Amino acid sequence: MRKQPGSSRQKPHRTVVIVTGIPFDVHSSFARGAALAPARIREALYCDAGNLCTESGRDLGEGDMWQDIGDLHLPDTGDALQRIEDHVRRLLAEDRRVLALGGDHAVTYPILRAYAERFPSLNVLHLDAHPDLYDELNGDRFSHACPFARIMEEKQIRRLVQIGIRTATPHQQRQAARFGVETIRMPDWRPGTRLHFNGPLYVSIDLDCLDPAFAPGVSHHEPGGLSTRELIRIIQGVTAPVVGADIVEYNPRRDVNGVTAVVAAKLLKELIDLMAG
Ligand code: MN
Ligand code: MN
Repeated sequence: MRKQPGSSRQKPHRTVVIVTGIPFDVHSSFARGAALAPARIREALYCDAGNLCTESGRDLGEGDMWQDIGDLHLPDTGDALQRIEDHVRRLLAEDRRVLALGGDHAVTYPILRAYAERFPSLNVLHLDAHPDLYDELNGDRFSHACPFARIMEEKQIRRLVQIGIRTATPHQQRQAARFGVETIRMPDWRPGTRLHFNGPLYVSIDLDCLDPAFAPGVSHHEPGGLSTRELIRIIQGVTAPVVGADIVEYNPRRDVNGVTAVVAAKLLKELIDLMAG
């Protein structure tokens, strides 16, 4: 069929998924280094040791369903969080699905603020060894241990479902109860569990949800976590539309032979596949 004049204006963007690095680790409580992550994850993604195919068989080296727009450069100052929020808001205004590479988990708070504005009934699936529900840590309310406390007290999202949790303090257990967080603690997790979400979903992956045997390159080693395969199965089993995601807390300074970078790159591929639809 001949193209109608002006029809391109109504056509949606072909590029659905935008990958953006957020190299920011000012709010890490124990060890900095997560700011080095995006560059190392890209190195692993494009390394000749592997290819760009997903497990579903889609070749991410072909087509234009995703694009990496590089890193957001940020100051070490207070308005960095606002800049992250504005950056994501601009991308969402173009109808993109944002896949952010942290950085530590503090970046998820401003990202979700932008998302909540765009998707008023957003659900969040949060994979982590830690609930990240501290009211404050070491005097920092924007610590990487606090993003979900901020999001929940602002009532920004509809549901928060956490998987992999194995460090919840009594304070954080009270916070979870107060905010109505749905927690599947690691001792209660059963592989193959089906998750059901109505409406748009955001997936936040803190790499320390994995057992340190699979992903040693994180600041907080917490034994007894998910296997890489279990995590991939969780991602692949999601049936709700995934409108955004992040992979955070990769710390190259703690990695062993770059194995965690490859895990992050693998998760990146599977998430692109899921988000591209
Ligand atoms: Mn976290
Ligand atoms: Mn964690």
